[in-house]
Amino acid sequence: MEFLNSLLAIDSNFILIGLMVVFYSLEQLISNQFKFSKRPQHLFQNSLFYVVFFLGNILWSSITVFSIEWLNNQQIGLFYLLQLPPWLKLILGIAMFDLVSYWFHRLSHVVPLLWRFHRVHHSDTSMDSSTNFRAHPFETFLWFGSSSILAAAIFGLDLFTLGLYLFITMVFFVLQHSNLRFPKWIDKSIGFVITTPNLHKVHHEQDQHYTDSNFADIFILWDRLFGTFKRKPVEEIKLGLKEFDEAEKQTFWYLMKSPFIDVKRINTEELHKIEQKPS
Ligand SMILES: [Zn+2]
Ligand SMILES: [Zn+2]
Repeated sequence: MEFLNSLLAIDSNFILIGLMVVFYSLEQLISNQFKFSKRPQHLFQNSLFYVVFFLGNILWSSITVFSIEWLNNQQIGLFYLLQLPPWLKLILGIAMFDLVSYWFHRLSHVVPLLWRFHRVHHSDTSMDSSTNFRAHPFETFLWFGSSSILAAAIFGLDLFTLGLYLFITMVFFVLQHSNLRFPKWIDKSIGFVITTPNLHKVHHEQDQHYTDSNFADIFILWDRLFGTFKRKPVEEIKLGLKEFDEAEKQTFWYLMKSPFIDVKRINTEELHKIEQKPS
């Protein structure tokens, strides 16, 4: 606990930037999973999302801290009714934050209004660790941000558990999006419980059959349990969304406006079926 306390006391922006420097350099130095062109522009466009996140987070983190402290002071939530040892409470707490995030994410794929914002994250056609930054700020704060407060309200989770959960997801997100080759044995071992980079990349496949799978941030167990777990060899994955393929739809400014633009979703699953039919 002492170690975790000092870890969480470090400004997470420093840790994130440190991780990004390490992984971005590794991607430059060692063999990539996906082909890459115009890397500096890609980094620049994705980093602009981080700037907006950084500024918005000053307000949003105050709202979250205030709300969860209030909930805890009122002793609201399931865990207040149970006598659990602190370590078990911490592990279960992280799992519950992840479970609520799983359902928010799943909902973002089926509710058209939520998809308009969430598709920004899926739009990246050439993935690397900076894809981690690509998310619409409205989605990050209003949707996913409120999922933490909702999880705290249902289960009675505290800020320490949230801090640890966010720390783990931050490391996972950099790893999951990094353009490196991850050996298959990782998927066959810890991939039973944990969302490995190859399993998250299935979620970024253009074919909607796969886009609507592997929603979990940390525990792929939720996908296995709720029937959304899918596999696809990572070398066969085509990244992004068909309707965002053009270069002009990959810029920060277009993506920021895109939730307010009618972009018809192209059902690639249907396209693939037509392509596969013998003529
Ligand atoms: Zn998604
Ligand atoms: Zn992703």
